[in-house]
Amino acid sequence: MPDTPLMPIPGHVDPVTVTRAITPRADGRADLIGLTREQIAELFAEAGLDAKQARLRAKQVFHWLYHRGATSFEAMTDIAKTMRPWLEERFVIGRPEVIEAQHSTDGTRKWLLRTADGHDFEMVFIPDADRGTLCVSSQVGCTLNCRFCHTGTMKLVRNLTPGEIVGQVMLARDALGEWPKGKMDFAEEESEAEYTADGRLLTNIVMMGMGEPLYNFDNVRDALAIVMHGDGLALSKRRITLSTSGVVPMMARCGEEIGVNLAVSLHAVTKPVRDEIVPLNKKFGIEQLLQACADYPGASNARRITFEYVMLDGINDSDDDARELVRLLKAYKLPAKVNLIPFNPWPGAPYQCSSPERVRAFSNIVFEGGISAPVRTPRGRDIDAACGQLRTAAEKKSRAERDREAAAAQASG
Ligand code: SAH
Ligand code: SF4
Repeated sequence: MPDTPLMPIPGHVDPVTVTRAITPRADGRADLIGLTREQIAELFAEAGLDAKQARLRAKQVFHWLYHRGATSFEAMTDIAKTMRPWLEERFVIGRPEVIEAQHSTDGTRKWLLRTADGHDFEMVFIPDADRGTLCVSSQVGCTLNCRFCHTGTMKLVRNLTPGEIVGQVMLARDALGEWPKGKMDFAEEESEAEYTADGRLLTNIVMMGMGEPLYNFDNVRDALAIVMHGDGLALSKRRITLSTSGVVPMMARCGEEIGVNLAVSLHAVTKPVRDEIVPLNKKFGIEQLLQACADYPGASNARRITFEYVMLDGINDSDDDARELVRLLKAYKLPAKVNLIPFNPWPGAPYQCSSPERVRAFSNIVFEGGISAPVRTPRGRDIDAACGQLRTAAEKKSRAERDREAAAAQASG
């Protein structure tokens, strides 16, 4: 397997993502997954089809790939038999490789996936009575080192490509057997209701897996465009939530260009505490972050912003913290709901979860302040699939090891 050079670690406080070319496939064929209809048409034209043919074939192939979940060109029955080997020779229909699939006792499923160039990442599916949520990763690792997050102890290897991001949703549909079996006529619009009310398991997507999605903005945007496309995976933007640790400069673009629901990992209401547990706070402070939330395009009382708040024993869980949280959200007139997340432990984590009584007291204060503050039930803890537990063994490095490397990189300029 070809090896991909590792991305440099940009540092704790001022992380920027570094784009890195993906190692090309050894057989020279191009992977179509992750490409838009226009990009597919361009490739077909480059490979020799005239413009009109290229557009028509691209429309058919796009539909087969993303709407029907075809995994071979042979399955594309409305494409001429002679055309299918032509496609086969030049293109592939990629999926991330499944290395391991685990099932929790509570029904949560976790998949360990591998990119074509050999990097491991994870996705999680959480079934509930009335919905099923797929938790999608945006990066292999994360640059942001939040102190309570296991992914933050990984070295960032690289951004996932649009194909690797949309590929997760496609794999989940494969695993759940949920591709629409409907009619062949793809010119006809299928209504959103068909995707939500017919007993489908996968109804919602959260960009809450490994990585900070707003530091991989273009790829996340392009992948979600395919997920939301009516002739693609056709999931409504109302059923997709992107979670950010607070990359303020990208938030307006997120609302404008992606248009999904926003979740913000707030986790603390004072500068010293947030600086410690979400180091990005040193760059974009609480006030700046809340102002960006107030300005978030599309936020309203009907589409409230979710504030995630991890409950850390003795760190951020006092009555005063709860009151300050209410005050802040009101001061910025935010259409907000708060999601209290019991801290999920991992080996060597420097924190403990607040007691259930403390979590309840905190929730009550926020609720009495007029803001809904449900406590999220931890799911999939037995297979390390819960929030903040994702971390792939292949990229294991200790924090100390990583700090040393970062210092060495800085010293060498
Ligand atoms: N990077 C993005 C999205 C991925 S993390 C972000 O930080 O928002 C998804 C959520 O899980 C975030 O709210 C994150 O703060 C939370 N989380 C991380 N580690 C956790 C842990 N150990 N226990 C509970 N929640 C955790
Ligand atoms: Fe990265 Fe989110 Fe984990 Fe922070 S909480 S280290 S931003 S994945």
